[in-house]
Amino acid sequence: MQSPDTHTGLSPQDASAGPGNTRQSDWFDFTPLLGGVPVKAILSQRNSDYQGVSLADYRKVLAGKLGLPLQRIAVPQQVHGNRVETARPGHVHPETDGLFTDDPAVILSLQVADCAPIFFYHRPTGFRGLVHAGWRGLAAGVLTTATGFLRARGVDLCQTDVVIGPTIEMACYEVDSAVTELFSPTVWQPNSNGRFQLDLLAAVREQLVEAGIPGARINSVDVCTRCDSRCHSYRRDEELAGRMVAFFYIDRGIEKCKMQT
Ligand SMILES: [Zn+2]
Repeated sequence: MQSPDTHTGLSPQDASAGPGNTRQSDWFDFTPLLGGVPVKAILSQRNSDYQGVSLADYRKVLAGKLGLPLQRIAVPQQVHGNRVETARPGHVHPETDGLFTDDPAVILSLQVADCAPIFFYHRPTGFRGLVHAGWRGLAAGVLTTATGFLRARGVDLCQTDVVIGPTIEMACYEVDSAVTELFSPTVWQPNSNGRFQLDLLAAVREQLVEAGIPGARINSVDVCTRCDSRCHSYRRDEELAGRMVAFFYIDRGIEKCKMQT
């Protein structure tokens, strides 16, 4: 679903827009849910898309609008697996679905269309993470890997804040029994078609709590990617679906970073 360099599809906009031309409405901004400065946690909206460019080029355009230096951006080449890594700036991480760093200079990125973009932030140490999780990744244990990665580096999960960005809601996410048998019965329901509705958000939340993140520290947004026209959705647009790009960085010290309205 999230191959990294597919075409983004949909309507072109002014690709010549430079730093400072970014509208606030081009982004979902989760920064307040993570306590605000110094972090910035954002996800591009569908209305800022470009037609006929690769996702890599689209990411460059978005980064340019924000004034984010490309050489600081780490990119996971997501495969719906369970591997997470320490982010390397300017590097594409093969077969990786989550990146972490405690280096203020590193910019984390991610791309999604229905799967959940999950931001992790441990303010006391400055550890940040961005993890991509759909049903395959959850079943493969990507959140177990991600939380284990943090714990192994001395991060106290009880003090770690999490934001789950826009994802496909239960009513819009029909799956078959081969999927639901991988999950606890608390996160899916049978439907009238003889199939099932999977609550991806609940599954993410359940696995995070099981891993040791306090429920009170897990925030999410009430946005369904399939229903909300600001989002890309693979279920809605299938092969034509673009991707929303997340960036998670330290605002302080990045020159020209302007979020003008
Ligand atoms: Zn929906």
